[in-house]
Amino acid sequence: MTKLLQISQLGHEVLRKKASFVENINNKEIQDLIDDMINTVKDSNGVWIAAPQVYESIRIFIVASNPSQRYPDAPKMEPTAIINPEIVYYSDEILKDWEWCLSIPWVRAMVPRNKSIEVEYTDRDWNSQKCQFEGFIARIFQHEYDHLEWLVFLDRLDSTKDIITEKEYQKIISK
Ligand SMILES: [Zn+2]
Repeated sequence: MTKLLQISQLGHEVLRKKASFVENINNKEIQDLIDDMINTVKDSNGVWIAAPQVYESIRIFIVASNPSQRYPDAPKMEPTAIINPEIVYYSDEILKDWEWCLSIPWVRAMVPRNKSIEVEYTDRDWNSQKCQFEGFIARIFQHEYDHLEWLVFLDRLDSTKDIITEKEYQKIISK
């Protein structure tokens, strides 16, 4: 039985400490946590969640992607567990786009991110993976990686003027 996990909110110390490497991916507790995180991210209409957001200070996050009103060109990607990730290459080109976070649900902000990245990680079956991502998924990946390094998207802004409330954001996208 999977369960829904509580989401840590900005201000809790778990979001502000460096997450530990996962040593044993076959461990039942780790596999159950991955199932619960996938379940939680689906339930909350999120596309991304990192373990520190469910009070676990370890290096795992879930990435998923679906085309949406805001990101019509987003590819479809089933929820995938990313374990002990490294970003090994960043393209020079920087793009700004809106981001949001389950741990900071009241605001959106225009966040600068590298357009494409090359990453290495371990999947939940303990296989090493090496991939290139660009655009929306590169953005999600960098957002989630930051959670493992005790950063949140507000730390990445060029200016606090790039922050708006969720209510104003909803007005923008409904235009
Ligand atoms: Zn987040």
